[in-house]
Amino acid sequence: MRNDSPIIVALDFPSAAQALALVERLAPERCRLKVGKELFTRGGPALVEQLVGKGYEVFLDLKFHDIPNTVAAACSAAADLGVWMVNVHAQGGRRMMEAAREAMQQSAHQPLLIAVTILTSMGEEDIHEVGLSGSPADNVKRLATLAQSAGLDGVVCSPQEVAMLRQVVSSEFRLVTPGIRPSWSAKGDQTRITTPAQAMALGSSFLVIGRPITGAAEPLEALAKIEQELSGPTRTG
Ligand code: C5P
Repeated sequence: MRNDSPIIVALDFPSAAQALALVERLAPERCRLKVGKELFTRGGPALVEQLVGKGYEVFLDLKFHDIPNTVAAACSAAADLGVWMVNVHAQGGRRMMEAAREAMQQSAHQPLLIAVTILTSMGEEDIHEVGLSGSPADNVKRLATLAQSAGLDGVVCSPQEVAMLRQVVSSEFRLVTPGIRPSWSAKGDQTRITTPAQAMALGSSFLVIGRPITGAAEPLEALAKIEQELSGPTRTG
């Protein structure tokens, strides 16, 4: 069955065992999974292959940023694990992104390739300190446009950036947004949050959701509540 869920569950766990225990309580036709730097460094490629083997589409969130040749080779290695989506830093530049795109085109599974523009942890002062000028929003727009022109499939961005980006990128360009909190869940350390329905209404393609699902007593029930929210009328504000 084709998975048409926009939900990507962030597996932010310190061990493969904990990640697998949660995954046993989800369903591969109802969500996708995101494996980031911590879990990958602990669980390794074998864990990613295990998740793929269970029928899950996996977003390998390793944010590669290196010379074009190295990033292309790393993306090929990720593709060989059977992942659904990989990402790189747009600040690695056009040639790096094009090399990664070519590697994906030559791979058997052809995963989606997306970019990180400006980390949302960086404010105006931070970006100026590393030599960028203008506002974070200006830089996000410029780098997303560059990623699209290098042939990438989308970018990771904040829900607050979606409306602005939809004005400069095509409708097929995927906007993958974390910082999502259903109205019933705790905010945790996320500050500027958006509900799943609001994020989709703004133009998100995929929603990265961690703790509201991974920290729930019944993860599948939490997922069902989000699905319900997404299928209902959109509320804003
Ligand atoms: O648990 P929570 O829903 O906050 O998890 C969100 C996931 O998205 C985490 O894996 C986090 O690292 C990631 N993320 C984020 N904000 C960004 C980029 C990534 O929350 N700007």
